[in-house]
Amino acid sequence: MTRQMYAEIAGGGIAGLTTAAALARKGWSVRVHERSEELREIGAGIFMWENALRVLEAIGAYDEAIDGGEKNEYWEIRDERERLLQSGWMMQGTRLYTILRSQLHRSLANAALRAGVEIVTSSRVTGATPDGELLFEDGRRTKADLIVGADGVNSAVRNSLGLTKRVTDLRDGCGRYLINRLPSDAAGRSLEYWNGGRRVGVVPASKDTVYLYICCPANDIAGKLSPPDKASWTKSFPALSSYIERLTDNGRWAGFSDVACRKWHVGRVAIIGDAAHAMSPNLGQGAGVSMQTGFVLAQVVSGAVDVPLALQRWEKLQRPVVDATQKFSRLYGRVGTRWPRAFLDVRSALVWGLGKSASLQRRINVAAHSDVTDTSGKRS
Ligand SMILES: Cc1cc2nc3c(=O)[nH]c(=O)nc-3n(C[C@H](O)[C@H](O)[C@H](O)COP(=O)(O)OP(=O)(O)OC[C@H]3O[C@@H](n4cnc5c(N)ncnc54)[C@H](O)[C@@H]3O)c2cc1C
Repeated sequence: MTRQMYAEIAGGGIAGLTTAAALARKGWSVRVHERSEELREIGAGIFMWENALRVLEAIGAYDEAIDGGEKNEYWEIRDERERLLQSGWMMQGTRLYTILRSQLHRSLANAALRAGVEIVTSSRVTGATPDGELLFEDGRRTKADLIVGADGVNSAVRNSLGLTKRVTDLRDGCGRYLINRLPSDAAGRSLEYWNGGRRVGVVPASKDTVYLYICCPANDIAGKLSPPDKASWTKSFPALSSYIERLTDNGRWAGFSDVACRKWHVGRVAIIGDAAHAMSPNLGQGAGVSMQTGFVLAQVVSGAVDVPLALQRWEKLQRPVVDATQKFSRLYGRVGTRWPRAFLDVRSALVWGLGKSASLQRRINVAAHSDVTDTSGKRS
């Protein structure tokens, strides 16, 4: 008879819950510790590319997660003169849905609970030890075969183990809002408009709501206001005025950061999600790759005799895809946010030209094309 394996997970966000569900479905006994009094997510939309959708299918959360969500059939990017720069951006051969974050989070929590995961709220983790101990604010310690730090960008688990290489403030960010959806709004289509360092995305996210993201550099004081300065945004994007005027006070601006780690694992501890590789959201993949790495982690450690060795293999498998996604996402942000104003026509020509290369788009969207079920290592 094989021994029951135990995992303790810090963080009940998208990464922690996905990993928990995937491990429990492999027969592990799993406990998730969330510092908040209840599990919750902000009200916004979220892009789910093929890799994330496959994970949702594999852990039995897909139907609940995408129920009422929008299948994106078309995506266009336009510049300050409303010229079409790209259409169908990165969508070749992959599915793309936009759904509500709260619904995604709930579907993951339900999948985890169905698989037998125990979720403990008001449980704040302060660190971990390489031999598999999780440490808590109230002085408790608990031991497990596997510890997972899924405690977000300021991860206490990562910091306690000295795994942080860099946390970089990317000097830009965005406000995320949900607005009422009108029958006249385009269905199945996402729009992204650029003007100077500002960008606005218009994305249907459910039957009743459209997700609007408004991005700008951190030094754009008017752009960062919450509630949004509608006059200022309409001036930048007159073609989107009918959407901008529907903005309310249901979101706020937040800056973007990149997290880089020396390693994602030490001993019996793995760090995943934003704790390991937070990235700007420009490619809509931060959560997608977090779900992917969490799912693959469960596949790789299951049945492994030596957990630390399995974690080494897991990082080797997943790191190239995640590092490339983080790098391209940062580059997208630089082009979209920091391009000199005097050369916007050059930017438009460049972005238009890049949109013609299917192979480049495939490289940029490497995560969506990666086979999350392949843990053989042949592709890495
Ligand atoms: C503007 C914006 C738009 C985005 N859009 C997309 C998108 O369209 N598609 C996409 O794939 N990704 C997107 N992302 C990225 C995505 O939101 C994140 O990558 C994802 O939420 C990370 O999940 P996580 O579980 O790793 O971290 P978090 O969501 O930060 O969850 C961490 C959890 O751990 C808990 N916690 C923290 N510290 C402790 C502690 N000490 N003890 C116990 N619990 C703790 C927190 O309360 C939280 O519940 C976007 C990000 C931003 C900022």
